[in-house]
Amino acid sequence: TKRWGRAAAVLRDLEERCAAPPARLRQVADAVAVEMHAGLASEGGSKLAMIISYVDSLPTGQEKGLFYALDLGGTNFRVLRVQLGGKEGRVVKQECEEISIPTHLMTGSSHELFDFIAAALAKFVASEGEDFHLPEGRQRELGFTFSFPVKQSSIASGTLIKWTKGFSIDGTVGEDVVAELSRALDCQGLDMKVTALVNDTIGTLAGGRYDDNDVVAAVILGTGTNAAYVERANAIPKWHGLLPKSGDMVINMEWGNFRSTHLPLTEFDQALDAESLNPGEQIYEKLISGMYLGEIVRRVLLKMTQEASLFGDDIPPKLKIPFILTTPHMSMMHHDRSPDLRTVGAELRDILGIQNTSLKTRRLVVAICDIVAKRGARLAAAGILGILKKLGRDIPGSDKQRTVIAIDGGLYEHYTFFSETLESTLRDMLGEEVSSSVVIKLANDGSGIGAALLAAAHSQYL
Ligand code: ADP
Ligand code: MG
Repeated sequence: TKRWGRAAAVLRDLEERCAAPPARLRQVADAVAVEMHAGLASEGGSKLAMIISYVDSLPTGQEKGLFYALDLGGTNFRVLRVQLGGKEGRVVKQECEEISIPTHLMTGSSHELFDFIAAALAKFVASEGEDFHLPEGRQRELGFTFSFPVKQSSIASGTLIKWTKGFSIDGTVGEDVVAELSRALDCQGLDMKVTALVNDTIGTLAGGRYDDNDVVAAVILGTGTNAAYVERANAIPKWHGLLPKSGDMVINMEWGNFRSTHLPLTEFDQALDAESLNPGEQIYEKLISGMYLGEIVRRVLLKMTQEASLFGDDIPPKLKIPFILTTPHMSMMHHDRSPDLRTVGAELRDILGIQNTSLKTRRLVVAICDIVAKRGARLAAAGILGILKKLGRDIPGSDKQRTVIAIDGGLYEHYTFFSETLESTLRDMLGEEVSSSVVIKLANDGSGIGAALLAAAHSQYL
């Protein structure tokens, strides 16, 4: 029928515009590598901020003592304590708690958000058991993972550049987030010192390196997306400080803000961006990360309803609500293997209030998920290829050195189609010989442990 013809046309058009064939991915990877150079050359020289983290050495395994970590950067925040036992003992004991952030705090005031976090941390500290030991007369120390773009001024201070991922809070941009957290901790009467301020990518890199000496980069694929890697300090023209002893400096790329004419953008992406809290920014992130994939699918479905009456003559009211279709919903539908696509039908009914969908309609929905997830995963693979290029590890080396990338984040962990597509794309792009020495490792919640390890490495008592 005519309706189906129109729906099929929208689908074909989407597929064409989202296509990311190898040649295009190479252009994207090259552009990433070029922007990396530019961002390292001068402050503001690129869409990639290439932030100097002040982390010049990664964990060695020698770290010892009781340390806390706090991870803020998405819908949940996590608190963690760990007893480190040095080379022999490693992680002696570890406890973690996850607390969801009430949505009104994500767009409220800075004070309120930090007070809420400090109160939760104080409660967690109060539950510290006998297995954890703080030497007499010492202050507890904390690694603070704050997963928003921060201009670091030292390992334990930095000012917020901008909010991302649905956070929009007055009066924090330009402020020192460690000072803000410390104030809130004082208010709670909590005697704790923040000794490391890191990004989740840096935390994941540190945690990854603790587990595996060959980890050179970390990628986050969760609510947002970002990456960090180990750079040679003398390859950072904008660094005017002393060269660190190690010769290394960890760089937080803030790759979510990457953009390039080579990125396959559609009208749906443009509309999503224009209506977002941060228009014109984080364009790469808006194509890849968990916050946005489901929303892109919703926008395609809405257009199909408007132009091809996909779900009958009336537009289902819920389909008009931004962000109602989340990426976990999308992945549930995408992975439906039942012959009648029962899960797709159930999700459409439960989430969007659309009853009695035909198998044909359900198949169409799956096809949309497929196109959108595939594009995101392939573009993420191109980003990793860009880093490997910058490090000179995209070509066969003489030494057969292993290259390990630590990846963390709910999108990568739970969206199997996404992670498999990313890995196979990277393998194809690298070729057999190089990919045999490149390993992608899921670093499940490595960033919490990583932040605690970095807090230990920068302890005031060393
Ligand atoms: P954050 O990035 O907020 O620190 P996570 O790393 O836990 O937290 O990632 C959470 C994000 O991962 C969610 O916002 C969601 O987009 C994505 N996600 C979680 N579960 C799934 C799933 N089953 N399928 C697809 N995406 C998921
Ligand atoms: Mg996270």
